[in-house]
Order: sequence, then C-alpha cells, then structure tokens
Amino acid sequence: MVRGMDTRIFYLVLYIILALAVGFCAFSARRSKKEIGRAVALLELSFLPPLIGHIIIIFSEYEEISFVGYYFYFIGMNCIMAALIKFTDAYCKGTGKGQKPPKFMFVMLTADSVQLLMNIFFGHAFSIESIDVSDRPYYRLVPHLGQTIHRVVDYFIFFASLLIFIMAIRNTARIYRERYTVILASFILVCVWQTFYIFSRTPIDRSMIGFGALGLLVYYFSLHYRPLRLLDRMLSNIAAELPMALFVFDPFGKCIWTNEPGMKLTSVGMRNVEDATEGLERIFGKGSIIRNEKQWAESRVIGSGDSATYYSVIMNSVSDEADQLAGSFLVIRDNTEEQLRLKRELYNSTHDSLTGLYTKQHLYECIRRKLDENSGTHYFAAFVDVKNFKIVNDVFSSAFGDLALKQIAESIRSRMTERCVYGRLAGDTFGVFVPVGEFNAETLEAELESFAVTDGSVEHHLLIHLGVYEVTDTNIDVSVMFDRAHLALSTITDEYKRHIAYYDNKLREKVLWDQQITSEVRDAVAQMQIRPYLQPIADAEGKVIGAEALARWIHPGRGFMPPSAFIPVFEKNGMIVEVDRHIWRCACRTLADWKERGVDLFLSVNISPKDFYFTDVVCELKALVEEFGIEPSKLRIEITETVMMSDAEERMLTMDQLREAGFIVEMDDFGSGYSSLNLLKDMPVDVLKIDMKFLSDTDDKTGRSRTIVHNIIRLAEELGIVSLTEGVETEQQYRSLAEMGCKLFQGYYFAKPMPLEEFEAFAIK
Ligand code: C2E
Ligand code: MG
Ligand code: MG
Repeated sequence: MVRGMDTRIFYLVLYIILALAVGFCAFSARRSKKEIGRAVALLELSFLPPLIGHIIIIFSEYEEISFVGYYFYFIGMNCIMAALIKFTDAYCKGTGKGQKPPKFMFVMLTADSVQLLMNIFFGHAFSIESIDVSDRPYYRLVPHLGQTIHRVVDYFIFFASLLIFIMAIRNTARIYRERYTVILASFILVCVWQTFYIFSRTPIDRSMIGFGALGLLVYYFSLHYRPLRLLDRMLSNIAAELPMALFVFDPFGKCIWTNEPGMKLTSVGMRNVEDATEGLERIFGKGSIIRNEKQWAESRVIGSGDSATYYSVIMNSVSDEADQLAGSFLVIRDNTEEQLRLKRELYNSTHDSLTGLYTKQHLYECIRRKLDENSGTHYFAAFVDVKNFKIVNDVFSSAFGDLALKQIAESIRSRMTERCVYGRLAGDTFGVFVPVGEFNAETLEAELESFAVTDGSVEHHLLIHLGVYEVTDTNIDVSVMFDRAHLALSTITDEYKRHIAYYDNKLREKVLWDQQITSEVRDAVAQMQIRPYLQPIADAEGKVIGAEALARWIHPGRGFMPPSAFIPVFEKNGMIVEVDRHIWRCACRTLADWKERGVDLFLSVNISPKDFYFTDVVCELKALVEEFGIEPSKLRIEITETVMMSDAEERMLTMDQLREAGFIVEMDDFGSGYSSLNLLKDMPVDVLKIDMKFLSDTDDKTGRSRTIVHNIIRLAEELGIVSLTEGVETEQQYRSLAEMGCKLFQGYYFAKPMPLEEFEAFAIK
C-alpha cells in the first residue's frame, strides 16, 4: 500500500504514464487503416481531459487550480460519454439494425457541460473543501444539485452504451463474443470503481486507473486482437472438411493425421492413420510419396482409358522457428472430372460437331506438324467440293444435307491411312492431305462417277469435285495450299466427265494475269487501249449494210489481244460492264459521225448477261442515243440466248422495252447453247444470228445439219424474224445460205473485224 507523501507522487506519476499511454493509443489509432480507427482515437483522446484534470487535482495545493482540475474532470467525463456513444456505434456495427445513435444524447451532454461551467457563477454544481493528504492541502469535491444532474446524464448514457454492448453479444456468433465481453466487463468494472469513489469520497480518484486501463483494452481489442483460438478451430475445421485428401506426416514420414477423403482414399481409419503411408504407396507406387524433397507437385494418372483416374499431388514440408523439419503435409486432389471436361473441350474445339472430322484450324495445324515431321514425304493437298450443295439442302431439306455431309465424311475417313490428315474446311468443302503415293486418281475418278448418298432405301447421286495441289513448296501457308487446290477446281468445265483437277503454275499465272488485267481495265478504257473493231455485215447481194463492233485490247505489254483473252475474265468478275459501256459509247460516236457525213450504216453491239445485273441496260442505251442524237434503229443490240436462261420473263420485258424504244434486237449465237425452238416462238427479237459452229457442219455428208439450218431459216422467216448467219468463210457457204433464204451474212469471207478507219475505207466507197 502506498502511503503519505508517496501516495500523491505515486498517482501523479501513474496518471502521467497513463495519459502518455492513452495519448499514444489515440495517435496510433488515428493512423490505423481500419474503419474503427477514428472512433477509437476519439475515445482514447477523451480519456485525456479527466486524466489531466486528476493530475492537476493531485498536484495542486491551491483552491483555484484544483477548481480548474475539477472542471477538466467533469467536462472530460462528458467528452468520454460522447466518444463512448460513437465508439459503441462503430464497434457494435453489423450486430444491430444499423440505427444511428440518437442526437438528443449529444444535446444532453452539451447542456450538462454548460450547466457545469455555470458553476463558476452560481456554485450550484459543486464546491471543494481542503483536507490534508500527505501532509499537504488537497481539495476534495463537495457535490451539489448540478453534480447530481451531471451524474444522472453520464450514467444514463453509460448504461445505454452497455445495453448496446449486451445486444451485440447476444447477436454475434459465440466465437466472436470474446471481443465484446472483455470490453463490456471492463466498462462495468470501471463504472463500479467510479461509483465506489463517488460515494466513498476518498481523496484521489483511483478509478482513473480503470479509465486508463480501459483505454488500453479498447485500443487492443479494437485494433489488434485476433481470436487465435477461433482461428485454430476454423483451420482444423477447414482441413477436415476439405474435399481433397490431406495427410500430415511427422519428420520421419509417419502419417499422423488425415481427413475423411484421405481415409477413404487409403482405406484407413482414425485408429490406424499411420497405415496411410502404405495405402498411398499401394496406389502411387513404392517410394513415390515419401521422398527426400522439401516440396514437390505432380500430376498422376492411375489406370488407363475410360477408367483412368487423374490426381494432382502436392507435398510441402513445414519447419519450426529454428528451421528444424517439423513434418510435412500432402494434398491429393482427384481431378478426373476436370481432366475429362478439358479433354472434351479440346476435342470439341478441334473437331467439327456434325462430321467429327477436324476443324479447318486444327486440320491446318496438324498438316503443318505432319510436314515438319516428314520432310521427305511428298504430299497432295486436295480440296473436296460438293457441287450445288445449296440446292441439295434446299430441295431435300437440311436434314438430308447433314446426312450427306456425314456420309461424305465417312467415305473420306474410310479411305485414309494414318499418314493422311483430313478435315472439314467449311459447309460443303473438305480438305484432305495425302502422301502422293497413296493417292490413286483412277480409282477415285471411278468412285466419284457413281458417288451416292443413301437415305433409307433411296439413293441420291452427288457430284463431287476434287481440286488437287501437289505440295512442291512446303514453306507456304497451309491455307494457301488449299487455296491453290481450290483454284484447280475452276478448270473443271465439263462437270460430269472429269472430277479431279490439278493445280499447275500455268493456272497460277493465269490467275495473276486475270488479276492484273482486271486492275488495268479502267485505265485501258480511258486511254482507248480497248477499242471496237468493226466486222462488216452484208446483205444477200453482198453489199455492206452495217457492222458488228467487237472489242480489241491493244495492250502496251502484251500487244494485240482478242476478246477471248479478257472478255471471259471480265464476265466472271463483272468488269465486263466497263468494257461494254465503252464499246457502246464508241459505237454511238461513230454512228453520230456517220449521220453527219450521210453514211447510212448500222452498228451492232454485244450485251453481256452480267450487264443486266449491274446496270439498267434500257436506260443507258436510251440515254446514249439521245446524247449523240442518233436513230435507235442504227444501234443494233446483240443478246446471247444464255441471257434468257435466268429470269426469262424479265429479260423478255427488257427486250420489249428496247424494241419499243426503236432499237433492233438480235439473238446472238443461236444454236451454240441450249437453244430451244420453243423459246424462239416467244422471244421478241428482230434478227436471229445463227452460230458459225453450227454452220461448219452444213456441208456434212448426210446433209442433216443443212436441213436443220434450212428449217431454222424458214421458221424464222415465218415468225417474221430476219436470219443472219455469222462465220461465213467461203463463197459456197454464202451461196447455199442465200439459197436457203438467209438475208444477212457476216464472216471472214467478206472481211475480218478491222479498225474503224480500215472499215470506212472498205465499206464507204
Ligand atoms: P460474237 O458476238 O458471236 O462475235 C462474232 C465472233 O466471230 C467474233 O469473234 C468474230 O471475229 C468471229 N468471226 C466472224 N467471222 C468469222 C469467220 O468467218 N470465221 C471465224 N472462225 N470466226 C469469225 P471475236 O471478235 O473474237 O469475239 C468473240 C466473242 O467475244 C463475240 O462473239 C462476243 O460474244 C464477245 N465479244 C466481243 N466483243 C465484245 C464486247 O464488246 N462486249 C461483249 N459483251 N462481248 C464481246
Ligand atoms: Mg456478237
Ligand atoms: Mg455471235
């Protein structure tokens, strides 16, 4: 027990130390990143005024100074209460219903503080009396009414806070109660101690020690406390509940603990866990688990095929503080399902879902690998194409289309060896990569000739073509190899006779050339490199009455180019429109010039089927004759019968419109295609141009062709159509055709197509 003079100094020193400690806690709490840091700092700070007040009271021997100490003490208590409200709110957050502490509590505290300060003037709250402590005057409190009010306010708030703590304890899990209970108990202790002091009126308020200690406890529990017991329990629960097998070994490799899955895996119980090591070696092989390695991780497959089980195994050793091996633990996870899922996903991403063949991407990768692995082998890349597959789909339903694709895939699969790679490139195309030696074109041709898909008892023939590229350069992209194989397909013209076509460099050069002239066509037109040559058309007396404008390209590099060198290319890619418009315009210019010079000749121009797709032919031609101020009947329009193959009705309408506008419409190359006499009956044409190829057989032995030509001419005449034979090469042909009643003639017998100037010299005498 501390006595006499020592008592005052002891408490003075003790309170100074407490004040410093609490001050430090306030500072450290303020800097803490935790949410509660502010509230803790405030509470810590609020402990300072009462402590300072007591330091002053204990130190003072004068009445005035002691008074100051008491004001510090009482107002300070109010500060503690205010801070306590805030702290309780923050500390017990999440356990209540989230209400904010009521405002009136703060109002009460402020009013009480004012009331206490009024004591300076009214002396209604307290006075002090001098007594001797440690042989010196000590000023002890004499409470009055205002002091009672102060106590009522503070106790009210204090108990309200306690109530909140009690609620918090009720509402939290048992393991967390510790943090609330300790603080609650300290609060109660401090409260009792303080009450004892108030009523015992002992000099020097020792309960301040309690306040200081409370400050430290609050600081620790709010900011640094971790429920270790709880953590231990949680960790062992987690370990026991883990879905993977967990084994703990002592430093000598003896199993000392395992969880449920571990026991299941090794067929041991809690009593004989040490047998788990043996169990593990039975599964994974002797010496494969307990080894001289600190840590390792491996994937293991036990069994094979569908019954294979996949494990991931991780071993880790644990050392104590002195770096002594304390034991090790092993985690074994059965990830069979995951592995199977991954395999399935990999399969799905590399295989086509309908046919089960490789996808294009995967096929290309496999081919690249094959090439790298077998650099000595020579390969063919074949592009397999189902002809008119869209129509098959459309006519027989897409279900039949699917069936057909599956059967084609099956038929490819059945022909392949493991040295080949194959897959589905797109909708109706497949890619096959075979060593040259294994590709038997003859048998394949024979098989393709009769290739059929069976749907139940019904057989449907399918036309399948193969474009083949012999891989001479293995460095090019696999996609390019198949592009070349695809290109070869375009050379199959007689669809039913030949099913396999090969890519060669000539084909490649042709493609490049086609690209080049296509890119040049606009300039060629502008620079008049492309220009019409005129071929005379004569009447039965041999008099030139007009000409056909036929395009020629005087190419700066290639020289003179006949239309066969560029017209088919442009007909394919649509560029023909540029050429035709140009030729029409040239023809109109010539006609305008002739009109001015009084030359009475007509010009006929060719219209390609593509023109009808890309332009409004009637509109353009009308605009042209208007622009040049010429008679439409001077511009004859040649339309081939292939134009009628699609949209026959619309084309007939176009021809009607042309005729209505005054143009003379001619049917070009009659007899070269699939001409139908029936068509002739409905076709609104003025002139029938009978093809020269048809004519070349007119002098055949039996005279059958001659009969046909003769009858066509007669038929045309009866239908009111003028007939014109083109390709007349000999006088004999000319005479006999004239005899048959043909009205107009065109051919080398009269003249070849020639430049405008030459034609004018030839025709206009
Ligand atoms: P086409 O319209 O039937 O033109 C007649 C073709 O027969 C011309 O070939 C002409 O030179 C050729 N020819 C004329 N008389 C004889 C003969 O006695 N014997 C032989 N063996 N041939 C004769 P060209 O000029 O090579 O034109 C071929 C085809 O190219 C034309 O056939 C036409 O379909 C197309 N064509 C020519 N120029 C144009 C054009 O400007 N636009 C369009 N769309 N096609 C054109
Ligand atoms: Mg023609
Ligand atoms: Mg012709």
